[in-house]
Amino acid sequence: MIDLNLIPSPCYVVIENLLEKNLQKLNHIQNESGAKILLALKGYALCETFPLIGKYLYGVSTSGLWEAKLGKEFFQKEVHTYSPAFCENDIDEICNNSNHIIFNSFSQLKKFSNRCRDKKIGLRINPEYSEVSQEVYNTCAEGSRLGVIEKVFKREIKEDENLLNQISGLHFHTHCQQNVDALERTLKVIEDKFGKYLKDLEWINFGGGHLITKDDYNIEKLIDIIKNFKSKYNIDIYFELGEAVALNAGVLVGSVLDIIENSMQVAILNVSASNHMPDVIEMSIQPKVYLAGKADEFKYSYRFGGVSCLAGDMIGDYSFKELLKVGDKVIFENMAIYSFVRNNTFNGIKLPSLGIWTKDNNFKLIKEFDYSYYRDKLV
Ligand SMILES: *Cc1c(COP(=O)(O)O)cnc(C)c1O
Repeated sequence: MIDLNLIPSPCYVVIENLLEKNLQKLNHIQNESGAKILLALKGYALCETFPLIGKYLYGVSTSGLWEAKLGKEFFQKEVHTYSPAFCENDIDEICNNSNHIIFNSFSQLKKFSNRCRDKKIGLRINPEYSEVSQEVYNTCAEGSRLGVIEKVFKREIKEDENLLNQISGLHFHTHCQQNVDALERTLKVIEDKFGKYLKDLEWINFGGGHLITKDDYNIEKLIDIIKNFKSKYNIDIYFELGEAVALNAGVLVGSVLDIIENSMQVAILNVSASNHMPDVIEMSIQPKVYLAGKADEFKYSYRFGGVSCLAGDMIGDYSFKELLKVGDKVIFENMAIYSFVRNNTFNGIKLPSLGIWTKDNNFKLIKEFDYSYYRDKLV
């Protein structure tokens, strides 16, 4: 049980036991299917936990120079780097820090492949098929910049067959929080459009967005699908997972600073949706709060608002069995992912500390942030 008295506020807390539970599930899939799973640093990157994650996963997937450097320095296993476009100034250093380089287009491949000679080079494809309904997360929407579509792929290969010899793998990323059925249907499209190239390749990366560690994910079916695909094409299969690795493996602890009255009771917290939980505003999701119900489910209802001056800095409406008081701590659930990797100091608001609730039931403070993190971006 987590002892809140040991935890400063505000603070993100990664819960080691829960993280390891996810990793064991992922490892089971690796062992049974032969797939290799990478951590997508975009979604989760608390370096202190990399040794634990590295016990199970093959490496990291990164989106450019800074993530690649972090991965190489602190994870010390495979680094796979993809970016919608690499820039001339970064490419050599990116290569120095990566094992796999994945290009988003044939023009980038042609421009840079001779500078990545000893690397495994891949190309991101766009199967023009995705079941993601939210437009911001649909990588296959019309006009998408992400990956090479079939028509262009065929045209380029026809012009210069040698281009295929420059790559050893393909990559696609078309999922978001999905179960295995979406993957099954996507693979059919991938095979129809790009299957004939796969026999000559060493690896394929199925991307992220597979919510494998969620309770309702059909793991046995996933293992079957991977095994079949792997043997059919004699190919290595990678996944690069952000959300699934640290799903439900951390919390954000905040406190009530004030409670005011409008048409309802409004609690103002020392954390902010726009600064510290950007998904809340961007994805319009309301995070779960420990011991709280939905509005009016329990006796005392409150709207939770953030400490920034943004009118829309609202976290959601909740209810509690007990009266909420100034100074009370509140615990937002599932806050290890896409949270501290992308928080910001908008409005000059302090960043929450970072900590770990360790396997031996202790709180380990990793980092506190002072004024300098805000100042040094601006001075
Ligand atoms: C964001 C992203 C991932 C990780 O996605 P999750 O939904 O967190 O698993 C993997 N690959 C690419 C290319 C991405 O953009």
